[in-house]
Amino acid sequence: MKPETETQKRTLQEVRNYIRNKYHDEGSGHDHFHIFRVASLARKLCEEEDDVFLVQLVALLHEEMDDKMNQHANQEASLLNLLGDFKIGSGAAAIVQAIQSIGFKGGFQQKQQSRIAEIVSDADALEAMGAIGIGRTFYYAGAHHNPFHDPDLEQVVVRDFHDYRHLKRNCIAHFDEKLLKLHDRMKTRKGQEFALKRHQVLEDFYQEFYEELAMASDD
Ligand code: ADP
Repeated sequence: MKPETETQKRTLQEVRNYIRNKYHDEGSGHDHFHIFRVASLARKLCEEEDDVFLVQLVALLHEEMDDKMNQHANQEASLLNLLGDFKIGSGAAAIVQAIQSIGFKGGFQQKQQSRIAEIVSDADALEAMGAIGIGRTFYYAGAHHNPFHDPDLEQVVVRDFHDYRHLKRNCIAHFDEKLLKLHDRMKTRKGQEFALKRHQVLEDFYQEFYEELAMASDD
C-alpha cells in the first residue's frame, strides 16, 4: 500500500478537523466518530494497489453529499469548493463521483461505483452491521421519533426512496429493508471477510428480538 506523503497527512488532518467541527453535535449516529471509524475501516479494506490517500478523503467526506445530512442546492459545486479549500486539485472529480455513488438509500438509487467508492461503501456498510450497527439503528430511530416497537406498524411496506426516508415504522424494520442485506452486497475481499461476524450478530439479535416480543405477548 502506498503510504501517504507528509503533505497528504497534513491535508487529512485538516479534513479531520473540519469534519469534527461540523459533525460533533450530530445526534442520529452520523457524528464525526462514525466518520472516523469509516475512515479507519476503509484503510483496513485497502489492498496493495489502492490509493490510501484518496480512499481516506472519500471516507472522511462521504456524508458531504448525503441527503440526510447536507441539503445544499448544488452539492457537487459545494463539495468541489471544499476540496479547493483543502487544495485538492487532481483527484477532485474522482472524489465527487465516488461520494455521489455511496449510500444504501433503501436500495432505490444504486449507482455504478469506482474501486474507491466500493471500499468506502463496504466500510460504511460494516458500520451499519454488528453491535455498532444495531446501536446506531436504534439511536437513529429514536432521534427521528420512530417507535421502538408498535405492533400496529408491523405491516408497513417501504415502496420507494421517499418512504424509506419518511415513513413511520418500527426500528426492527430497518433490519429487513437494509441491515440483513448488506453482507451479500460487500464488494471488497476483506469487506466480505469482516462482514461475516457482523452479519451473524445482526441475525442473532433479530431472532432474539422477535422471541422476546412473542414471550411478552398476551396471545
Ligand atoms: P442510508 O441512509 O443510505 O441507508 P446511511 O449509511 O446514511 O445509509 O445510514 C446509516 C445508518 O443510519 C443506517 O445503517 C442505520 O443505522 C441508520 N438509519 C438510516 N435510516 C434508518 C431508519 N429508517 N431506521 C433506523 N435506522 C436508520
